[in-house]
Amino acid sequence: MSKDYYDILGVERDATPEAIKKAYRRRAMKVHPDVAPDDAEAAEKFKELSEAYEVLSDPNKRAVFDRGGDPMSQGGAGFSGFGGGFPGGFDFTNLVDAMFGTASSRGPRSRVRQGQDALVRLRLELFEAVFGATKPVKVQTAVVCPKCAGKGGEPGSEPVNCGTCDGSGEVSQIQRSFFGDVRTTQACPTCRGYGTIIPNPCTECSGEGRVRTTRTLQVKVPAGVSTGIRIHLEAQGEVGPGGGPAGDLYVELVVDEHDTFRRDGDNLEMVVKLPMTAAALGTTVDVATLEAEWPDSPVEDRSVAVEVPAGTQSGTRIALKGKGVPRLRGGGRGDLGVTLLVQTPTKLDDKQRELLRQLAEERDETRAEAIAAKGHKGVFGKISEWFS
Ligand SMILES: [Zn+2]
Ligand SMILES: [Zn+2]
Repeated sequence: MSKDYYDILGVERDATPEAIKKAYRRRAMKVHPDVAPDDAEAAEKFKELSEAYEVLSDPNKRAVFDRGGDPMSQGGAGFSGFGGGFPGGFDFTNLVDAMFGTASSRGPRSRVRQGQDALVRLRLELFEAVFGATKPVKVQTAVVCPKCAGKGGEPGSEPVNCGTCDGSGEVSQIQRSFFGDVRTTQACPTCRGYGTIIPNPCTECSGEGRVRTTRTLQVKVPAGVSTGIRIHLEAQGEVGPGGGPAGDLYVELVVDEHDTFRRDGDNLEMVVKLPMTAAALGTTVDVATLEAEWPDSPVEDRSVAVEVPAGTQSGTRIALKGKGVPRLRGGGRGDLGVTLLVQTPTKLDDKQRELLRQLAEERDETRAEAIAAKGHKGVFGKISEWFS
């Protein structure tokens, strides 16, 4: 195979469908026949780009190409032209039509075109992102018209040949000029290039072959996702004009902030307050884990007993292995980091004040000297950050 489609589009071999679209759009704009109308080299380049895009945007053809086969020979397709709308209203079908409309005869254009991709956002609670969930997602979309099944005409009626262009979809004009006859070809104005006319447009879809509707999809969210991750659902976008193949749906995840737990990569972090006496004497505290919010979790996982050794300082972080976020790639889970915040008592009665005074005397701390501590900035910076 002499052509490298990845090279032509200037993308890596593992480029995402989005990156391929972007690269195609960027390059095609420069050599588009409207921009460089008389440039034969640009026209050739445009055709080459379009062919590369046709292959790499189609998972089947791309797979054939990746295996070293000839994707254009699959099903005797050749360069068939392709549909494809893009979010943002940039319609490539017109662009391709414009190219082939001026370059060669192509016959009538099809009413059936690829639908657009769609992007929706899905909000998740932290426990849903961490443990996974199946969530309903409402999408405003287009589906095949139930009345005409995408054909665009009232049931029982058929499209008729266009009289203006005799079904060819294009009309030619010969203009006499000083240099001789100049022949120009353009899309037929009567049938807009389709070659046929729908005499009785479907009353349900006004002849578009698709209708707007709201669909609710159940989207499976894997465990360990985070904000910004997009779930790609093939052919769940909107149906194209003429009931054409549906575009893809991208579900972008947004994970809500949590009052107790903070996510740090695969780790969950939390702060637990502890009385000064407990920190000095040592204790065991039961800490509710994120599993406590997840209805499907085993009951024994919903809390964990944390051993606090005697003499624990404020800011000490205890890592509970395997109680954090499941790793999206590879197995296992991160840690649950429990940072202890030692509470100095504030409301003392007379008896408590006397006891503390005795303790201070016993420890020779009645006139305690303040010594600047070093290397604590990181620990306390983090804690104050959470409480701000
Ligand atoms: Zn219809
Ligand atoms: Zn016509």
